[in-house]
Amino acid sequence: MTDRIYLDHNACSPMTPAVVGALRAALDAPPCNAGSVHAEGQGARARLERARRAVKQALGVRGGRVVFTSGATEANNLVLRGWQGDGALLTSMLEHPSVRVVAEELDRAVRWLAHDAGGLLELDALDAALAAGDLAGVSVMAANNELGTRNPIAAIAARCAAAGVPLHVDAAQVVGRLPFDVPDGVTAVTMSAHKCGGPIGVGALWMRDGFDVDALIRGGHQERGRRAGTEDVLGAIGMAAAFTHADHDAWAALAPVRDALECALVETLGCVVNGAGPRLPNTTNLSFVGRDAEEVIQALDLAGIAVSAGSACTAGSIDVSPVIAALGLDDARTRSAVRISLGPEHVALDVAPLVDRISNALR
Ligand code: PMP
Repeated sequence: MTDRIYLDHNACSPMTPAVVGALRAALDAPPCNAGSVHAEGQGARARLERARRAVKQALGVRGGRVVFTSGATEANNLVLRGWQGDGALLTSMLEHPSVRVVAEELDRAVRWLAHDAGGLLELDALDAALAAGDLAGVSVMAANNELGTRNPIAAIAARCAAAGVPLHVDAAQVVGRLPFDVPDGVTAVTMSAHKCGGPIGVGALWMRDGFDVDALIRGGHQERGRRAGTEDVLGAIGMAAAFTHADHDAWAALAPVRDALECALVETLGCVVNGAGPRLPNTTNLSFVGRDAEEVIQALDLAGIAVSAGSACTAGSIDVSPVIAALGLDDARTRSAVRISLGPEHVALDVAPLVDRISNALR
């Protein structure tokens, strides 16, 4: 199994040595409930608050509130279900299911923001939606987990700020990988630890001062009443370590490797690239036209190559990814879309042998 190649970092990016080191050190501290008043409890509280400060630092913010959660899914649920005030919510069909599906279930009007064929949100449509004057909020992702496309968050934030409408950004695929300084018009940000080398099962929602949500998980005063349950100090420390030791340069340096891999697969196998515009440097979404995505993934897995179709949350089912379906591509292209997502260990990846291996696996 040693020569397996893992190309699924958008599903989970393995823990980095810095994170493992921070967790090992934390395991040596006396285990304790951060809500206890004794010295041991206060020690745990201090470690939790240090992690909270590190999360803010990663976002380039001083103020606001960080609520630790079990991941980006819970952070998205918390902000969408807990959104205060009357009015409609504007989001898009390209969001992660923890935004898109939750939005569909909300007891409030939801509008769907238009996007182009490459997967980028339309600023003109945003202007029109904001001009209607009935929005309680906007929720969009910083980068799409399936396509890698990066929305123009600064431009979206400026428009929302001018209209006085709060903006939530799901930045699970960006924070901890690439610099993400929260622009003025962004009101809340979702983060996840395991997309950037932190532990699985921890995330956070940052909220600007003046913006608040109703708690989703109740029955305790933890997280200042916004998320009941004994705090996961270890998880918070792991996430803080992933953000603090984030190697932005390594992630950025993946762009030429991704481009070379993408070009070679287009040339040798006739793949078609899905998603256009600015993209995460590590991600390509390719249709292996003439095949089913499931068949490609299984053949590559047998050849020791881990890739995926759709988000991991929908993998295992043969349903077409709603994100790819929303692009309006033809059926053959939609059914054969596969995501390849590189990680920092691939900075010096030799693309040619990998492409040979993929070609042989699919022969
Ligand atoms: N939002 C985005 C953009 C994601 O990529 C993911 C993970 N696929 C999530 C939310 C959910 O993250 P988590 O696994 O931390 O719940």
